[in-house]
Amino acid sequence: MVVRMRRNRSETAKRRSHHALTPVQTTKCECGALRLSHRACPDCGKYKGRVVIDVVARATREARRTKRREKELKESGQITETKETETSKT
Ligand SMILES: [Zn+2]
Repeated sequence: MVVRMRRNRSETAKRRSHHALTPVQTTKCECGALRLSHRACPDCGKYKGRVVIDVVARATREARRTKRREKELKESGQITETKETETSKT
């Protein structure tokens, strides 16, 4: 490195003084779960006391999708056996 480009410890520290990360701001939902502020709760789907996400429908849809993907993978022969614990959990 050329002497002209050299930075002393003070300059490095000054630059790095802006590198700190801020912690994620969470608030407690009325259902008791922690959620991000100004976001709908992923557990109960509520925002400002109003249901905005149908959590049950989303879960069933997701389960159906994973099932279908596993089926497709099985048919194409990419995986030979599916884990029973994964399918029973969802
Ligand atoms: Zn909630």
